[in-house]
Amino acid sequence: MSSQQQTGSDFDRATATGPRPLIDPFARAITYLRVSVTDRCDFRCVYCMAEDMTFLPKADILSLEELDRLCSAFIAKGVRKLRLTGGEPLVRRGIMTLVASLSRHLGSGALDELTLTTNGSQLKKHAAELVAHGVKRINVSLDTLDPAKFRSVTRWGDLDKVREGIKAAQDAGLKVKINAVALKGVNEDEFPELIAWAHGEGMDLTLIEVMPLGDVGEGRLDQYLPLSMVRARLAERFTLIDLDYQTGGPARYVRVAETGGRLGFITPLTHNFCESCNRVRVTCTGTLFMCLGQEDAADLRGALRASESNDILHAAIDDAIAHKPKGHDFIIDRRHTRPALARHMSVTGG
Ligand code: SAM
Repeated sequence: MSSQQQTGSDFDRATATGPRPLIDPFARAITYLRVSVTDRCDFRCVYCMAEDMTFLPKADILSLEELDRLCSAFIAKGVRKLRLTGGEPLVRRGIMTLVASLSRHLGSGALDELTLTTNGSQLKKHAAELVAHGVKRINVSLDTLDPAKFRSVTRWGDLDKVREGIKAAQDAGLKVKINAVALKGVNEDEFPELIAWAHGEGMDLTLIEVMPLGDVGEGRLDQYLPLSMVRARLAERFTLIDLDYQTGGPARYVRVAETGGRLGFITPLTHNFCESCNRVRVTCTGTLFMCLGQEDAADLRGALRASESNDILHAAIDDAIAHKPKGHDFIIDRRHTRPALARHMSVTGG
């Protein structure tokens, strides 16, 4: 589906279902909300967090009821897809209560998709319940199939537990997509194996360029591996057939002829994907980020807590969307090895 078609149909549906739909200054319909439900995580991935992170005090964090109200306000304004992320969404206490409650919007037809991005560590426990609440697909982040490397990349993670979680998710009927961050000198020789494994298990695989968010205590230049290079290397070994397939997201997909599976590339650095951006992100403190790669943000917690009616909240959302920037421009090179933005990816959840 082209971004033009998508904008048109989403606009019509949003108009039909309630308050003013969210159209930004560049005529992009905002139909996708990603919500970071916690800043905490049971992993400390080297490119995402510093080892000694300071987490937010509880009072700053939106309650599950407030998160529900916030998500529901966006849904009333035409958001059709909701992704829960983090931190690690499945370590938030009571998270299934939120999933259960949000699933009413699937039932009513106001929402097309409720999904989440997870590190997989808690999936075994929650997979069946996710399915029961209408979740159909999830993304699991996994950068390597080597247990020792996995431990060193995540600092605290256990690969076996994640693989068990993935299996439990598939057994429960969830469609799983694997996301792997391409890391120079870490997993760069492993992509053929990751492709064979993911596709062999019926999962799409998406490779992601490391983005310069937050000080993680390592030079980004040491981590950064351009996907243009990865793709060229893979093309020597596999037949990569360009696909029109679009999920409304930033990934560009190819079919790997040898495996029959789909491989995505998310390239914020080598190829900017902002022109078709349909999304915004809200953190667990109710801060709305209009662009992953810019500082522009609006406080929605104040608006939420100011009144029990949603009028102030709706107005705050409208005002924020009217300031959504055109796009971002990440650079990692020898002159730009410091974070482009101070916040870590765990704040907005990717
Ligand atoms: N804990 C969940 C998980 O592991 O998927 C959700 C949050 S995590 C921040 C979301 C995604 O962002 C993961 O796939 C992670 O690998 C990715 N990520 C984190 N920091 C990144 C960075 N600096 N550049 C690119 N991707 C990053």
